[in-house]
Amino acid sequence: MYDFLIVGSGLFGATFAHLASKRGKKCLVIDKRPHLGGNVYCEKVEGINVHKYGAHIFHTNNKVVWDFVNSLVPFNRYTNSPVANYHGKLYNLPFNMNTFYQMWGVITPEEARAKIEEQKADAVAKMKADGVSEPRNLEEQGLCLVGKDIFEKLIKEYTEKQWGRPCSDLPAFIIKRLPVRFVFDNNYFNDAYQGIPMGSYNKLTEALLNGVDCKTNTDFFNSEYKDWRKYAAQLVYTGPIDEYFGYQYGKLDWRTVSFKTRVVDTPNYQGNAVVNYTSHEVPYTRIIEHKHFEMFGQTLYDCPKTVLSEEYSTEYKDGMEPYYPVNDEKNNQLAEQYRLLAAQERDVLFGGRLAEYKYYDMAPIVEKVLNMFQ
Ligand code: FAD
Ligand code: UDP
Repeated sequence: MYDFLIVGSGLFGATFAHLASKRGKKCLVIDKRPHLGGNVYCEKVEGINVHKYGAHIFHTNNKVVWDFVNSLVPFNRYTNSPVANYHGKLYNLPFNMNTFYQMWGVITPEEARAKIEEQKADAVAKMKADGVSEPRNLEEQGLCLVGKDIFEKLIKEYTEKQWGRPCSDLPAFIIKRLPVRFVFDNNYFNDAYQGIPMGSYNKLTEALLNGVDCKTNTDFFNSEYKDWRKYAAQLVYTGPIDEYFGYQYGKLDWRTVSFKTRVVDTPNYQGNAVVNYTSHEVPYTRIIEHKHFEMFGQTLYDCPKTVLSEEYSTEYKDGMEPYYPVNDEKNNQLAEQYRLLAAQERDVLFGGRLAEYKYYDMAPIVEKVLNMFQ
């Protein structure tokens, strides 16, 4: 008999199992995939750790979270600084003095600010004429943030590829988290700490689940564990919340990503881990060159090949991996109905991205579980 049966070995399930085990609780972790780690799982190809379920960069402002993960595996100094390719011309991201220089040739922050004011004037005037002061959608948000040229070249088509909807139909909050800086700083995140576990995320998963009983290739709904009370006092469920309740109110929508991964016979293909393709002309949203997450300087060239993943954003269908919750009105309401059901389940804890239907980054997941155990 276990204290906890944990469905899902992603960061939520694995962190929960780690902390519970440290407190003397007996845990069993099951996962339907053939491996542990959920979406942070990496596969070794040509000596390179490939982020199989999409590029994952750990970043946080929370020192407790940072110290916790580093106590399990040291993190490297990787700093995310993607580059955008629009019709063959390159621009630095996030939007900063380098981008403004590349876009308009402006040299000083004052010139850049003046240019953005000029560029956003039409959008601001239109909103004023409509009697609104806050951007009503992503298009207005983008135009007010950085003006017309950057919106059209670096935001509009990329966002429409990623979300499969016009920017005017998308909520403004999606791009609110992108920094706009009047300094020459290409660091994508504002957080104090970021990096990649040395030797891959699998080391983190292994350290979290060290000494914990785990079973892969085990789907909760198609295994003996469906009658979980026979095996454990409590259930921790990190799978999709609608599936747990047999989709009784209907299915939640997700966006997903498919990856075309290939090995190329060159040590350094694009010179950066992440290059976004921001025009409609290119069907994928970005190319990830995985070795740049962990190989710097000469080590890059000591490894003669490289692994690239093109990312194609697509609408989720049954059988695919549910990646991004679609947090629009309809889906948020449906998720809320399921959350009410979840609140009534005895001895079951619903946690993580799929069970909460929330777009969590990794660090907030770890933080949430750490707080639960405090
Ligand atoms: P998951 O990792 O999805 O784990 C859930 C697990 O439950 C899975 O292993 C699944 O197989 C298992 N499961 C589901 N149903 C069942 C069942 N019926 N039976 C058994 N097992 C089941 N965060 C960042 O901080 N930085 C990033 O750069 C970043 N990039 C991302 C890129 C992509 C493409 C995606 C999709 C996410 C990204 N994230 C990033 C978010 C990050 O992946 C999540 O915060 C984290 O993985 C959430 O962990 P989780 O345990 O909630 O979910
Ligand atoms: N975005 C964009 N152009 C870019 C990168 C991002 O317009 O080159 C927008 C896009 O709408 C995206 C949002 O910013 O959905 C958030 O991007 P981020 O890369 O932070 O999100 P992720 O893809 O990691 O969820």
